[in-house]
Amino acid sequence: MLSLIIRNGRVIDPNSAYDGVADVLIRDGVIAAVGTNLSAPQGSNVFDASGLIVAPGFIDMHVHLREPGFEHAETIETGARAAAAGGFTSVCPMPNTSPVNDNATVTSYIVETARRHAVVNVWPIGAITRGSEGEELAGIGSMKRAGAIAISDDGRPVMNAQVMRRAMESARSFGMPVINHCEDLHLSGGGDMHEGLESVRLGLRGIPGASEDVMVARDILLAELTGARYHVAHISSRHSVEMVAFAKARGLAVTSEVTPHHLSLADADIRPYDSNYKMKPPLRSTKDVCAVVEGVVNGAVDAIATDHAPHPGSEKMQEFEKCPFGILGLETALGIALEKLVHPGKIGLPKLVELFTTGPAKILGLNRGTLAPGVPADVTIFSADRAWTYDLNKSFSKSRNSPYDGHAFRGGPVATIVAGEIVWQC
Ligand SMILES: [Zn+2]
Ligand SMILES: [Zn+2]
Repeated sequence: MLSLIIRNGRVIDPNSAYDGVADVLIRDGVIAAVGTNLSAPQGSNVFDASGLIVAPGFIDMHVHLREPGFEHAETIETGARAAAAGGFTSVCPMPNTSPVNDNATVTSYIVETARRHAVVNVWPIGAITRGSEGEELAGIGSMKRAGAIAISDDGRPVMNAQVMRRAMESARSFGMPVINHCEDLHLSGGGDMHEGLESVRLGLRGIPGASEDVMVARDILLAELTGARYHVAHISSRHSVEMVAFAKARGLAVTSEVTPHHLSLADADIRPYDSNYKMKPPLRSTKDVCAVVEGVVNGAVDAIATDHAPHPGSEKMQEFEKCPFGILGLETALGIALEKLVHPGKIGLPKLVELFTTGPAKILGLNRGTLAPGVPADVTIFSADRAWTYDLNKSFSKSRNSPYDGHAFRGGPVATIVAGEIVWQC
């Protein structure tokens, strides 16, 4: 394999706290060196990154790739292409496929399909319970041996506290984190959007913030009881952010992720009855949006994850109440994070890079998220100021459900490198 040298970019590696203009040399698919005025072997490919940021490859720890079972919405191949176009070099698909990824056969199928068709790394997340039905624990150890890196019943919560306790005990013995979609289904009671003035105004059934909060509270207590590593998926409410901060202050192994849409949109931004604004958790109040941004700033939130959830037009083009929950996320994540966090001065670029790299890598225990010599050369090159407009019709995803179509961004991905190969370039 030819070597590649990335010249003159601003190299940010949160893992080693490196931040400066430098070259990155990649040889045989791994990082060979980071430094100034590096000499490259003759015939090396050269990437001029002047004016750009060179970071470890971005990791999206929460996506839905829909394969096996829902290939009309997305496949591992198309989802991976959308990931690469979003600057991601690794994605972690949730297990709510058909069949559910609750055993080693399905895990192996995903790993093998990704190996043949995906341009980025795919690290599957196995189910917590059989069929994600919340009753009987799935074969956690065998899924881990087949390549699963965490467990979650995402799409659904684990409603039964005793089942969650046993799942945490089991995951702890296998050294895996437990990720929960925190929602008390009795409290959310078939709601369609956040419960508040806006839901009353639109005449839609509400999902209270408390439906998330009570489960985050329960799980933090169980994480303390079991000593498990516990991760809150798509945190969206202010009380949940406070409780995660509380758990961290107690020294518990509790982490959380936020989606770009929960950082950028509130219930008041919903275009009436437009299903591209329908997701779980729902877009919360402006107060909650401010709280999750503050959580990113103060460290209660560890990672940005997209919850990329493709649905074909036929499913999303129905009355709001009938539509499935979820929106695309991979291609707009970096642009939104820059717009909501970096440009207003809430955080600097090193912190932003951390949220996309070392943050998720640490939670999942991945040998990624760094530019340390010897590590597989996954690199994301991005601009913090290039103007571009998101054109949904050009998305690499098979689906078209996004509220950001036509949105003008300042800054976004420029090139995505996986194991030393450029897999996408704008
Ligand atoms: Zn979820
Ligand atoms: Zn999800």
